[in-house]
Amino acid sequence: MRIAVDAGHGSKTEGKRTPPMPVDIDFEHDGKIDVKKGESIREHTANTGVAFLLVKELVRCGIQTVKTGFNDANSYDDKDTPLSERQSVIRNNQCDYSVCIHFDASGDGSAFNSAEGVGIYIHDKYNNNSEALASTVLKHLIKGTKQKNRGVLKQSLAMCNCNKLGVKGAILVELAFMTNLREATELMASQVFWREAAREICMGICEFTGIKYVEETIMPKAINRNSSEEDIKWLQKNLNDVLEGDSFIPLAVDGIYGSRTRIAVLIYWEKRGWNQDGAKDGFHVGSGTIEALS
Ligand SMILES: [Zn+2]
Repeated sequence: MRIAVDAGHGSKTEGKRTPPMPVDIDFEHDGKIDVKKGESIREHTANTGVAFLLVKELVRCGIQTVKTGFNDANSYDDKDTPLSERQSVIRNNQCDYSVCIHFDASGDGSAFNSAEGVGIYIHDKYNNNSEALASTVLKHLIKGTKQKNRGVLKQSLAMCNCNKLGVKGAILVELAFMTNLREATELMASQVFWREAAREICMGICEFTGIKYVEETIMPKAINRNSSEEDIKWLQKNLNDVLEGDSFIPLAVDGIYGSRTRIAVLIYWEKRGWNQDGAKDGFHVGSGTIEALS
């Protein structure tokens, strides 16, 4: 299964941005202001935020991806790729389906207005299985954050043309209105919403294609004797997996960080060439070990 993920527009595309925002915007809530009060949020920034996370979701579920319109989490260096070029990349990579990420606008874009909601576009003529894919994805998108459901809409859009894209289905998702003050501030300007949208789109794709959706596992930053039983069991299970064979007697997966678990940690570090000076006693694993084990 190979799916094209497209982030609409480019970082400098004319228009395609919110009216001036009445407040400072901090996408990640990390204290760093991303868009100052009085400036506009570029649509491509939010499109890329969602598209980047959607790729991560799909990959976790074992689905291959092809990126168009963006290449990484940084949206600010993306030129506006012509639609014909996006189409040929998707066609040449023989994708099964294509998903295009956008935020909608109403009016001339100079002021906020009341148009709102989430909708999905498919092509009015060349749409193969797009309608069923769109309905399934939309069913998931309207969960979580409450939004007006604008339904599945038909239009002759280049990025929805299954014939040109060579795909079985192509959808263009309009996640919210950047010209609606509430949706721009609470949804488009929030990484929490980007994450929710990416997750829901992936769940819809998984349901439609019959692929099992794989939940994200949140790893602890460190594990020691005081960690939860669940975290210690995770450590023990993974140590057993990597140390299997080599006359290693598997640990009991009991959630107790005792001396056998400690020795297994030391053996694992030895194998990796870590802790060469023996300074660490093996009763505490940090993020490096956890990442390596996962
Ligand atoms: Zn757009």
